[in-house]
Amino acid sequence: MNSSSPVIWWIRRDLRLCDNPALTAAAASGASVLPVYILDEQDEALGAAPKFRLGLGLEHLARELARAGSRLILRRGNALEVLQQLAVETGAGAVHWSRLYDPQAIARDTDVKQQLSAQGITAKSHGGRLLFEPWTVETKTGGMYKVYTPFWKAVRGRSVNSLLPAPAALPAPENWPASEDLSAWNMGAAMRRGADVVARYCRVGEGAALNRLGEFLEFSVDAYKERRDYPGEDATSGLSENLAWGEISPHRMWHLGRAAMERGSQGAEHFLKEIAWREFAYYLMYHSPHMLTASWRGEWQAFPWSQDITRQVLAWQRGQTGYDFIDAAMRELYVTGKMHNRARMIVASFLTKHLMTHWKIGMDWFTDTLVDWDPASNAMGWQWVAGSGPDAAPFFRVFNPSGQLEKFDSSGAYTRRWIAEGQGNAAQPALDFFDAAPLSWELSPDTPRAKPVISLKEGRDRALAAYHGARENR
Ligand code: FAD
Repeated sequence: MNSSSPVIWWIRRDLRLCDNPALTAAAASGASVLPVYILDEQDEALGAAPKFRLGLGLEHLARELARAGSRLILRRGNALEVLQQLAVETGAGAVHWSRLYDPQAIARDTDVKQQLSAQGITAKSHGGRLLFEPWTVETKTGGMYKVYTPFWKAVRGRSVNSLLPAPAALPAPENWPASEDLSAWNMGAAMRRGADVVARYCRVGEGAALNRLGEFLEFSVDAYKERRDYPGEDATSGLSENLAWGEISPHRMWHLGRAAMERGSQGAEHFLKEIAWREFAYYLMYHSPHMLTASWRGEWQAFPWSQDITRQVLAWQRGQTGYDFIDAAMRELYVTGKMHNRARMIVASFLTKHLMTHWKIGMDWFTDTLVDWDPASNAMGWQWVAGSGPDAAPFFRVFNPSGQLEKFDSSGAYTRRWIAEGQGNAAQPALDFFDAAPLSWELSPDTPRAKPVISLKEGRDRALAAYHGARENR
């Protein structure tokens, strides 16, 4: 590589300039930096909402790079071939990227590293997505943690890399290679719902994420432990969307959370514990990638879950089960692309237990509809609720959506925000649902509220009978 060879920053789910080890390494080389995003077959296959949200993130990053005197180069195709082609076009001598940990990304990146290195191009992957690389955490006997609490105890005192500033400069090459046009990619093409409605609820970009973190730490973190389970309140950080696309680093959340804890904030330690749940999800996915596609515990493969998209499953997807907590949550998801954590647990329990439907059907719906979709947290969350995962909630713990509503939304704030039917002066988010929903669903705020799709007792008894039957047959 000669001194005028540019260096490629291969952008993936790390749409930020601050605290980005791959970008810092690219800039530290002193060479000109080519920020490149490649829409390859793996990102082409993203669910509708994640792909749409990725498009919003790229649009924002392109503006930020332009402000820094740089440019976002967009290419489409096989990642290795595109990188090789760019190296030929520009003479680039090095490629830096942030690691991803799902098996498909690992396979692609391993191949890219081998092939580029064989051609004499420096190919270097960096951390930045996780606080702890999954292969660095092991039990005293060298095994894998399968339970969260010992994992937490093992990592909570570890040192976490300090934050890196954004590079002082991103030197531009003498000639920029051609870029494709983001709008021509139509990243929202698969959104069969009102994408403009969803976009209004997205918080896009690094600056917005940093502001939100500051606001959360100032006003909400102290009460986080007590209030985080109440979906009608603004009590959590809401940063999962930005973490998913790398618009903020977990390191920043960790260090600022720790500083709050050291100042005596009661809720801050709990916030760190939740960040560690995300780490645990990645740890599980890395060490047992079958978690993404099959029940983590082998004995659950034979459980008699329905695999059909029944009328009841459609009602669940559309927020029409007749149960307020479920319907409010599924509408929140449809309008905002996000859902409160407690609500995720309740809707997952309802689908896998009351409706006895395979967790993969629920996971797939989330994969298609969440803007904060994360392969590890999604799979872990579903398997945790279904009972098939490591350290999972026992199957016989069936959440009662009505009881949960009384406990966590006794003021009715959450249901009023999301359910319009029967309200004289419905809240805007509740009305937005009808703008987001496809016309083919034939929904209107004036139609009567859906009747319950199943009696809670009947659903619970059926699920428990199946569970006991499956245990006896083992
Ligand atoms: P906060 O309460 O502010 O927590 C801070 C951060 O900690 C979150 O942004 C998140 O990164 C992490 N975190 C919090 N709770 C969890 C948890 N239970 N598991 C893993 N990490 C957690 N999260 C996703 O980011 N993407 C998903 O696709 C996803 N799918 C889920 C599916 C199911 C069935 C369940 C039960 C949970 C899922 N979660 C997922 C986890 C969790 O619901 C969200 O991370 C959380 O609601 C995000 O809100 P927040 O940013 O306000 O979280």
